[in-house]
Amino acid sequence: MKLVEERIQKDGRILNDDILKVDSFLNHQIDPQLMMDIGQEFARRFANTKADRILTVESSGIAPAVMTGYQLNLPVVFARKHKSLTLPDNVYTADVFSFTKRVNNKIIIDKRFLHQGEKVLIIDDFLANGQAVGGLLDIAQAAGAQIEGVGVVIEKAFQRGQKFLDEHHIHVEALAKITAFDHGKVIFAKD
Ligand code: 5GP
Repeated sequence: MKLVEERIQKDGRILNDDILKVDSFLNHQIDPQLMMDIGQEFARRFANTKADRILTVESSGIAPAVMTGYQLNLPVVFARKHKSLTLPDNVYTADVFSFTKRVNNKIIIDKRFLHQGEKVLIIDDFLANGQAVGGLLDIAQAAGAQIEGVGVVIEKAFQRGQKFLDEHHIHVEALAKITAFDHGKVIFAKD
C-alpha cells in the first residue's frame, strides 16, 4: 500500500538492525485518517473472507483492527497483556515473547468473546517473528476457533513471521513489506 510505504519513508526511524520506530503515526501518536485508509484496504483485501470477529493484541494493534472492524462490520477483541481486577477467571491465555520489550507477556482473552466454531481474522501492527500472532493462534486453537487470515500493517520480511505462518497454512496480507534496512534506508518488496 503506497500510502503506508510513503509514511514510513517520511516518518519512520530505524532504531537498530531490526526495529523500526513508527510512533508518530501508529505506535504512540495515531493518525486516524491513515488508520481509516488502512481499515478500508484490509476490508478490500479480506472482502471474501468469512469472519465472525477480529482479534488483535493491545495496544498497537487496536487502531488498525478497529478501523477494519468498522469497515467489515465485525466486532473487535483485543487480547490484554495485564490481568485486570475486572477480568474474570474464565479466560484463555497464551505466552508471547515481546519482540520490542524482550520479555515474556501473558496475553488474555475473556472466554465470553471467543467461541467454538467461530472464524476469526487477526489484525496487528507489525509482523516480526510471529510471536504475537502465534499467541492468538494458541488461544484460537484452545477455543476451537479458526484463523481465516492475518493482516499486518508492516511486515519485516527478513524475520521469521511469514515462514511461521506459512508452516501453519495461514494467509497473510501485509500493507508494507520491508525486505531490509540498508544504510538507514527502508527497502520495500516490489509488488
Ligand atoms: P512478533 O510477535 O511478530 O515477533 O512481533 C510483533 C509485535 O512486536 C508487534 O505487535 C509489535 O508491537 C512489535 N514489533 C515487532 N517489530 C517491531 C518494530 O520493528 N517496531 C515496532 N514499533 N514494534 C515492533
